[in-house]
Amino acid sequence: PRFGRGIQQQPFQAAEPEPATPATLEGRNITAWFGDHQVLDRVSLTMEAGVITSLIGPSGCGKSTFLRILNRMHELVPSASLAGEVLLDGDDIYDPARKLVDARKQIGMVFQKPNPFPAMSIYDNVIAGLKLTGVRVSHGEKDELVESCLVKAGLWNEVKDRLRAPGAGLSGGQQQRLCIARSLAVRPRVLLMDEPCSALDPTSTRVIEETMLELAHEVTIVIVTHNMQQAQRVSQQCAFFLAAQGTPGTIIEHGDTEAMFADPIDPRTHDYVSGRF
Ligand code: ADP
Ligand code: MG
Repeated sequence: PRFGRGIQQQPFQAAEPEPATPATLEGRNITAWFGDHQVLDRVSLTMEAGVITSLIGPSGCGKSTFLRILNRMHELVPSASLAGEVLLDGDDIYDPARKLVDARKQIGMVFQKPNPFPAMSIYDNVIAGLKLTGVRVSHGEKDELVESCLVKAGLWNEVKDRLRAPGAGLSGGQQQRLCIARSLAVRPRVLLMDEPCSALDPTSTRVIEETMLELAHEVTIVIVTHNMQQAQRVSQQCAFFLAAQGTPGTIIEHGDTEAMFADPIDPRTHDYVSGRF
């Protein structure tokens, strides 16, 4: 045979898809209502690309509402209305010319209660979002996509031998990582996480925190948490929300997480982060 020496015969490999890049998400003067009940008042916050931002504050101050406005889920509630703007790398996600599915695809969400499709296999759960958001992946690329998303979510080793088993058979922590894998499959540029570890044990919580830190180079993460240690472990930026009695939620203080915990400017922030609230 006349093959040149040193020319290795490589099996054909599909080109890796371009890695997703994190985007900057900016909420500007977000005011929100349910009916005539105002729950947010001119909240402005920039969540920088590739940075993990935590949202902290007592229950009922509008953190989840703010998160749902950031990916256009707020409008699913019939009584809900809002004012203000949400910019994804400078582009208004509420622009009427822009498709709703486009915002949802680029801005993923993970909820407090893990919500995989219980009867669906682990494999099918990971790719469940593709059809919904119109992302096309060839049959041959699906296996690779499923594997890479499960690896990123820190779940691959635990499930690789039972990809066809139903999602419901996993533990709570595994189900939450499956939901993270499902979010990642559509290659979002921002991932919103609403108390993702509140229903989980400390070990699962740690695994998810490690996953978040590793994901930050490809997706901007915004996490709502009631766990002050968690906010300090994972986030570089932090925003403190508060709704004083009978008034809508606002951001009292935001900035560098370490500075905010070590040396908060507002006495209310001080009371909250030191657990005296
Ligand atoms: P947090 O996540 O900080 O606990 P939420 O955003 O869930 O706060 O809630 C903010 C306020 O909005 C609360 O007063 C809550 O009762 C109200 N609220 C939340 N969701 C709805 C809804 N679907 N319909 C009416 N009011 C709601
Ligand atoms: Mg909430």
